[in-house]
Amino acid sequence: MSLSAAFNSLKSSNLISWKTTGKLQQTLAGCIELAGKTLHTGKVSKVKVLPGFAGEGRNFEFQSKLIPASIDFARESPLCTTLCKDGYKIRTVEHLLSALEAKGIDNCIIQIRSLDPEDSEVEVPIFDGSASAWVEAIEQVGRKEALDRCGNNAEKLAPYLNEPLHVLRNDSFIVGLPSSEVCITCGIDFPKVNSFFLCYADLNSCHCFYASLAKIYVNYIQVEHMRAAGLIKGGSLDNAIVCSATKGWLNPPLRFHDEPCRHKVLDLIGDLSLFARSGSQGFPVAHIVSFKGGHSLNADLVRRLSGINV
Ligand SMILES: [Zn+2]
Repeated sequence: MSLSAAFNSLKSSNLISWKTTGKLQQTLAGCIELAGKTLHTGKVSKVKVLPGFAGEGRNFEFQSKLIPASIDFARESPLCTTLCKDGYKIRTVEHLLSALEAKGIDNCIIQIRSLDPEDSEVEVPIFDGSASAWVEAIEQVGRKEALDRCGNNAEKLAPYLNEPLHVLRNDSFIVGLPSSEVCITCGIDFPKVNSFFLCYADLNSCHCFYASLAKIYVNYIQVEHMRAAGLIKGGSLDNAIVCSATKGWLNPPLRFHDEPCRHKVLDLIGDLSLFARSGSQGFPVAHIVSFKGGHSLNADLVRRLSGINV
């Protein structure tokens, strides 16, 4: 039985079919080590990304616990995507995962630790609010063919969407349409800011690199609520572009006129990468249209793809 036949026999939903990409699974050719301040707690954390075995996917390692980068461990949290297992939490995983998914690092171990050895929660550093630090580090180290524990390579599969689907919350929605290639359209609706739409084809193309440079953007009112809740202690005008409902952008210039939308693309790739299984591509081969989408809605879409009702 081929790998795709085995995957398709195991799948819990008819929405997708696993097909070969014609490529072999990859991993990092070396190690990446980066440290930096985090968005929510403002603490410093250290991340080491190491090569992983084919077929084992992307896994975080925190306090000696392995937490797979899978939708099974995703929990709702404000302004970021959090993975949670056995009481241990890793927050803000989306920009790192977006870079790994877009750059084709299918298998790796992501060791993460905070400076306090007793912490049960940790967060991936925010850097400049985009994924550029991760993308640069991955490009510097390079990638290589991943081998499994027996020394064999493995073909890389991708999930193809078979029929249209949608998820929605209030006036936000994401629609998935069958397509022969990855295509992403994102729209936002912010007071004083136009709605933007962008369309990308080919997940691994340089377009992803453009998305990877886009910073987090937040509504000024959201900032006040987050601060009051003890969050975004590490947030600053250096790692976010802030919009006021009455005044527009408070800290221009933007890197791109459509930077908020590009950041939505970045987050979407990171969150949908949680659909990856055993070193496969996570992002579905489909046209994904997101309007006012966010991490929760992205997770809903992945759950629907996994055959879970939301
Ligand atoms: Zn983001």
